[in-house]
Amino acid sequence: MGGKTKKVKTTGRFGARYGVGIRKRVLKVEMKQKAKHSCPYCGFAAVKRQAPGIFVCRKCNSKFAGGAYIPSTMTGNIVKKIVSQKTFGVSAEKMLEEAEKKPEFKEQEDEKGAEERKEHGKKHEQKEDSAVEAEDKE
Ligand SMILES: [Zn+2]
Repeated sequence: MGGKTKKVKTTGRFGARYGVGIRKRVLKVEMKQKAKHSCPYCGFAAVKRQAPGIFVCRKCNSKFAGGAYIPSTMTGNIVKKIVSQKTFGVSAEKMLEEAEKKPEFKEQEDEKGAEERKEHGKKHEQKEDSAVEAEDKE
């Protein structure tokens, strides 16, 4: 116990169980979850996940809703934008559709689907990463 892991990182606790595919997917989520998230009210990186979708800032004590694993998601941001603009048109539907195509964490997915996603999801992944970086700078 407590040894160093090369690639498996936080999923090392599972040992060899559950299969490498699902552990990789869990790792992807846990990496995002563990990253510092700043509070939308005070800006401090002191946001803690209280329950799925509920986040609390340890600095200013504000409680807010977000994604199941991270305080804000791509889809959530789009919905926020739509709500603030009050335009529920065709463009909004299109935006949501596009966001759902992104390789986000999905619990139920067969291996074949994952492989296909890997192939043509590479571009999306890069896009998503840069978007996350831009968010952090704000
Ligand atoms: Zn705060």
